[in-house]
Amino acid sequence: MTNPEIDIPSLMDAHSISPLLQEYFERCIDFHTYPAPGLLIGVFMVDYALELVGADRGEKLYAVCETHKCAPDPLQVILHCTYGNHRLRVIPMGRFAMTLNRPSSEHSTEGIRVFVDPGKIEKFPLIKAWFSNDPSFNQRLQAVPLIDEIFKAGRDILSAERVRVKVTPKQKWKSGKCRVCGEMVPQDLLEKDVCIGCGPNVYYERVGTVH
Ligand SMILES: [Zn+2]
Repeated sequence: MTNPEIDIPSLMDAHSISPLLQEYFERCIDFHTYPAPGLLIGVFMVDYALELVGADRGEKLYAVCETHKCAPDPLQVILHCTYGNHRLRVIPMGRFAMTLNRPSSEHSTEGIRVFVDPGKIEKFPLIKAWFSNDPSFNQRLQAVPLIDEIFKAGRDILSAERVRVKVTPKQKWKSGKCRVCGEMVPQDLLEKDVCIGCGPNVYYERVGTVH
């Protein structure tokens, strides 16, 4: 484990977490580099959504994550819905929720949405305090009890619904050249022949060349 202060395997054993879930947790914590509470909840969410979709492990799925915090990682590690393979969309809306669906050639398809249910976290005081960013929550002193409560709760803080998801078809695109940096980008990302990296999205100032 990357965090020697928290004995994750013992906490998982204490709550009879299944071997498959334990493997998910280990891989996700390794990828994320530490056992963040949101990551652990995200693992339970992915496992629950996968079961409700009725998909096999390794089946090609598409995911939408409604927060950029923690939850995108279990989708990438467990389902291989990655940012790079376009099977993961992260829409940072601040809701701790995710949707899974199978590939479809239609304009929309059925999926499963899993979310942290505010009514259900009432029974779990530490999860509630942490989740609502309550000043009473002490990250340093309550980190381990919180993780313990997350393993205890499992799916009991989650709810799910059947949803219809819009499918975005693959777009055809042409390449263009930016007249400022001279690099190639898809034409629709050029505005008056200038790429958005040289325009509104500029994030660096050039300070030298590399030989
Ligand atoms: Zn440019």
